[in-house]
Amino acid sequence: MLECGVMIVKLFAKINVFLLEILFPRECLGCGRPGTYFCGVCAEKLCTGGRRKENIVICKSFDEAPYLKPVIHHFKYHFAVDLARPLGGIMRHHFKKYFKSDNIVLVPVPLHKKRLRMRSFNQSELLAREIGPPIADVLKRTRDTKPQAKLGRADRLKNLTDAFGLKPGTNLEDKVVVIVDDVYTTGSTIKECERALRNAGVREIYGIVIASGC
Ligand SMILES: [Zn+2]
Repeated sequence: MLECGVMIVKLFAKINVFLLEILFPRECLGCGRPGTYFCGVCAEKLCTGGRRKENIVICKSFDEAPYLKPVIHHFKYHFAVDLARPLGGIMRHHFKKYFKSDNIVLVPVPLHKKRLRMRSFNQSELLAREIGPPIADVLKRTRDTKPQAKLGRADRLKNLTDAFGLKPGTNLEDKVVVIVDDVYTTGSTIKECERALRNAGVREIYGIVIASGC
């Protein structure tokens, strides 16, 4: 019954997206070029700069590239999965600048299985696939947390405490792990993933996100 409900919600969401695309054909959210939500020219502009905050590489902030916010929104909430390619391409570019080891595995931040069922894809995993190194799908959400974007700073930290655990049989002790997420707000998501990985004996842990801001 629940599965049926989820399928109906997804079907309506897809019909909605389809109708919106007929009424409002795609145009680049950065420059207005027709045919795509995010053109190659605007994507290439985001391959410069980048910074490191502690152990996390941040490709761009929403202040530097305000159009990145609606692009990510379309990617996550409007089933625009083809945006994983340009967004992940930007991440790959920055990744290569900051990470040189050939012993790296990427660990995407997981979604809770309930949210994964509704969305049908994990945006962090799709981005990680574009970056290059092997992916280790070792983390799981132990509980269904509230969306971070809807919470204040203090609640965001509390919301994610002990929200991640390791899947059985995980062995990454000799690897350099880079956690992959889409947006950095307080950093608490990556910190909590990091905590779960440290408990599993991983010593070298970093993170990479495409954007910071809220
Ligand atoms: Zn553009």
